[in-house]
Amino acid sequence: MPEKKKRSLTARILMGMALGILTGVLLNLAGNDGLIRVLFSDGIFLVVGTLFLRSLQLMVVPLVFVSLVCGTASMEDVRRLGRIGGKTLALYLLTTTIAISFALGIGLLVKPGKGMELATEEDFVTPEAPPLSEVLIDMIPNNPMEALAEGNMLQIIVFAMLFGLALTISGQPGRSVLQIFESLNEVVMRLVMLIIELAPIGVFALLARTFANEGFDTIIPLAKYFFTLAAVLILHAVCTYSLFLKIIGNLNPVQFFRKMRTAQIFALTTSSSNATIPVTLETVEEELGVDNSISSFTVPLGATINMDGTAIMQGIATVFVAQSIQLDLSFGQILTVLLMATLASIGSAGVPSAGLIMLTAILTQVNLPIAAIPILLSIDRLLDMLRTVVNITGDAAMTCIIGKSEGKMDLSRFEDNSWRN
Ligand code: ASP
Repeated sequence: MPEKKKRSLTARILMGMALGILTGVLLNLAGNDGLIRVLFSDGIFLVVGTLFLRSLQLMVVPLVFVSLVCGTASMEDVRRLGRIGGKTLALYLLTTTIAISFALGIGLLVKPGKGMELATEEDFVTPEAPPLSEVLIDMIPNNPMEALAEGNMLQIIVFAMLFGLALTISGQPGRSVLQIFESLNEVVMRLVMLIIELAPIGVFALLARTFANEGFDTIIPLAKYFFTLAAVLILHAVCTYSLFLKIIGNLNPVQFFRKMRTAQIFALTTSSSNATIPVTLETVEEELGVDNSISSFTVPLGATINMDGTAIMQGIATVFVAQSIQLDLSFGQILTVLLMATLASIGSAGVPSAGLIMLTAILTQVNLPIAAIPILLSIDRLLDMLRTVVNITGDAAMTCIIGKSEGKMDLSRFEDNSWRN
């Protein structure tokens, strides 16, 4: 894409975001009912926004599969694969643990739940978290077509890596198939770029609808929870990732954040790390200069298991619920929350509100009333948007650090800001 065109696209997406929020807020103030609702929130914005979202989601499975097959096949040796896997898991776990510790620390200090009265009757059906053994067994698909059809991300990742490995050891037939996959990757990427072109309109419609439907007045009774959580999310994204980028990666955080804007707006708009995968991948490869052999693995894996924003919400929400029923969490309970939130964020799918559903597992573990969940759900939409931004920012930041440490990063591309301003 020519530089000038790209620059104007970023500006147009930002404009779509600002106009969408403004329109939504105005519609909400106007009551958002009757003909206005039928025509706009439940009419044109719903249709345009959903079409945009679906066109993005439609790219996820083909892109992850094709790109990861190419990425694995271009890995020079299998030992590197193990090393990259180890680094990725270590960084993802480390940042999630920092996120949740930070959230618990601030939650205990600020006490967002003090003075709250929450209803405690258990009128909420707890979804069962699958046992760990099942999660592990489930990683290998019975039928890859079923995994692809259902969009089961971990199974797709495993199958794509096995397929990519098999290509590298199959000699000439492997090389021929790889060529097809490389061409397919180009085509799918091109399609992603076309969809990104539609973002100004899609972002506008989705945000206008969200803000028309979500009145800010619902925040007021839970304002302390809302703002504590929002502050921790922002601080973690800005401070923790900047420090990691600077100290471990020796990369300029300002440059990183500048180039992440488009992907962050997509995450904010869709509240889904999964739906944002195509844009996150495009950004880390095309703008930040990370090689496909790294990002095709770390980005989809991150969107599935690395959710710092979700872990932060789960930490603060647990502390909030405990405080609202005047319960002091013991040190043991705090450690349980730390462990459980790390696991729950791994187990949460990268789709809207998934993190809140997994919160039930944590609350149950420390004997807190899960009846608080519907109350938190009432103001979760905006928080979900914010934590999804944190989730994908974490994936991209760690991808850059791993890419740099493996010598698989085009630094001139990272530094090049001829079109971002
Ligand atoms: N919406 C989040 C994501 O897709 C998950 C969650 O915290 O609900 O990353």
